[in-house]
Amino acid sequence: MNNQVQIRKFKKVLVANRGEIAIRVFRALNELGITTVSIYSKEDRYALFRSKADESYPLNPEKGPIDAYLDIDTIIKIALAANVDAIHPGYGFLSENPDFVDACERNGIVFIGPSSQIMNAMGDKISSKKMAIDAQVPIIPGVDYAIKDIDTATKIAAEVGFPIMLKASNGGGGRGMRIVNTMEDLEKEFNEAKNESKKAFGDDKIFIEKYLRAPKHIEVQILGDNYGNVVHLYDRDCSVQRRHQKVVEYAPAFSIPDETRQIIFDSAIRLSQAVGYRNAGTLEFLVDADNNPYFIEMNPRIQVEHTVSEEITNIDLVQSQILVAEGYPLDSDEINIKSQDDVHCDGYSIQTRVTTEDPANNFMPDTGEITVYRSGSGKGIRLDGGNAYTGAVISPYYDSLLVKAISHDRTFAGAVRKSIRTLQEMRIRGVKTNIPFLINVLHHPTFVAGKCYTTFIEETPELFQ
Ligand code: ADP
Repeated sequence: MNNQVQIRKFKKVLVANRGEIAIRVFRALNELGITTVSIYSKEDRYALFRSKADESYPLNPEKGPIDAYLDIDTIIKIALAANVDAIHPGYGFLSENPDFVDACERNGIVFIGPSSQIMNAMGDKISSKKMAIDAQVPIIPGVDYAIKDIDTATKIAAEVGFPIMLKASNGGGGRGMRIVNTMEDLEKEFNEAKNESKKAFGDDKIFIEKYLRAPKHIEVQILGDNYGNVVHLYDRDCSVQRRHQKVVEYAPAFSIPDETRQIIFDSAIRLSQAVGYRNAGTLEFLVDADNNPYFIEMNPRIQVEHTVSEEITNIDLVQSQILVAEGYPLDSDEINIKSQDDVHCDGYSIQTRVTTEDPANNFMPDTGEITVYRSGSGKGIRLDGGNAYTGAVISPYYDSLLVKAISHDRTFAGAVRKSIRTLQEMRIRGVKTNIPFLINVLHHPTFVAGKCYTTFIEETPELFQ
């Protein structure tokens, strides 16, 4: 199958991102003997990640703190001047932007991720739903087209039955979703959703889905090479969310029945193969109270919570991304995944996202200087960070993630205890953090039983005590 193998070894790679994920990718590159290049905004000129790279270059200081990292022309110019072979996009920023993929390809730079065609097909929620239907993957009742006017919205809502969810096709990061409970609310919510989507995501494509009450969010990590081979690295349970954003994630999704998990794995592989997916990707599903799984979207990039899949499978996903982009097949000696049977699931891993959000103040991000920073550590603990150290200044410009604390143990209960112990060891002064809140989540019997659902946090006031 792999007699057409073409390898292009990378000597130098630019990471078009910042913070913890930039450092995570530099580490992977470094271990592969590849020179690392960082880019940074004016606001990040003292940030730690830039000094972790072998070379580092400033972005356009005229652009804002976010826009600097979205400035394709400047990034490509820097990449060409530094003579890099490839760009890793991390997550967020340009990681799901097909124009960026095309710009890389036009300039002879390998984009470490899927092709722009796949990104176009899977990047927006409506078209990925269409692909799922074609691949006979179960989806949530609703429509797979953009709803233009209120008359159509009314008709569809009546068919689907309330409550429904209005979703922006290009929404992301938990934004661009509205729950509508009654027909009386529909027109107002529909118009507002359209306007909001236009402003936030550049178009007003809205579709309707049945709103599932208290589902679990289960996702499958997949890895594909350039030759049509795809494996999964088991599932993650990301049901502990606040405002549709993940707070604690773990792998594997042990509390879902095996039959349901098998449907999800098979669906993920089938859909990935149907679209010719390559590189790392995640297929997200919601599972209802009767354990029916429904595909919701695909993320064509590395995710914040990739770490827990790495822990249970002992596969370095970021290194695998790089090797796949160099052209290595999964069964090559470098990647060494000869078949799905080679992907073993060993123990349990939990990731908690330590942020500078203040749980006592509606999770407002706190800023300022960290005056004391001591982390936890010990057997079975991995910390992926980079923004946090004594003397670091937390700015208001970027997301509030300080460090990801990841535990790994033979049992889930053991992983819970390790996570709690590590969080208790941490001393962070000068900025408020969500650590006490995370500890409350980890102690909660519903969490320990693996029974959390997506509205668990908002329905559990004792977590805030
Ligand atoms: P985003 O791209 O913003 O991450 P997703 O489509 O992945 O959005 O959904 C994020 C979360 O929103 C889900 O994990 C779930 O909690 C909630 N959600 C999305 N669709 C539905 C739905 N139809 N019913 C109930 N909850 C939903």
